Amino acid sequence: MGKIKDHYFKEINSDDDGYDKYLEEEQIARFEAEQYVMSAFEDIVKERLEGVPHDDRTLLEMVAFHNIPFHDAIWHASTEILPNLEVQVVIDAKNDCYVSSGSSGFVDFGSVPKGMKMPVRCWIHTHPFGSAYFSGTDIRTVSIWKSLMETAYVLGGKGHYGFWENTEPNKLDIYVNNGLERTQTWNQYGNEEE
Ligand SMILES: [Zn+2]
Repeated sequence: MGKIKDHYFKEINSDDDGYDKYLEEEQIARFEAEQYVMSAFEDIVKERLEGVPHDDRTLLEMVAFHNIPFHDAIWHASTEILPNLEVQVVIDAKNDCYVSSGSSGFVDFGSVPKGMKMPVRCWIHTHPFGSAYFSGTDIRTVSIWKSLMETAYVLGGKGHYGFWENTEPNKLDIYVNNGLERTQTWNQYGNEEE
């Protein structure tokens, strides 16, 4: 018994068991993934700013809206740069983009990042396991945020996503191969309806 325990602690304490390295690599991958999404967003903004007075990005409408290359960049970050970890993106009222990775819900975004301006124009997060629907947590999130959040996407793969709008806050349209496949609905208590 003592021997097994000793062995166990030796494993934890040893510097060459690979765990520190694993954490370090994960941190680097997260940083890389976040930068990748940010720069994809900035590229789109730059492209669209042509013709906008004084390059005022707040005048841009719907930057992240149905933007397939942007969605693809987020999906790539979540599944290729990261080993299938959730990526979350928030576009605020100023069209600034905030990215985090590996967390499980909007509430874990570290409350509201400093400088973020309400309302949120778009909240996008991935389900790297490949199914785009709203989980119970997601439903709670949009229910809480619906007065301060205009749109949301959940990404489950290429051409596979759910789209939510606060004008109809109790439903999510789910697309497969970019075509509407079904609508997920829930009541005011967050319980799903048929
Ligand atoms: Zn989710």
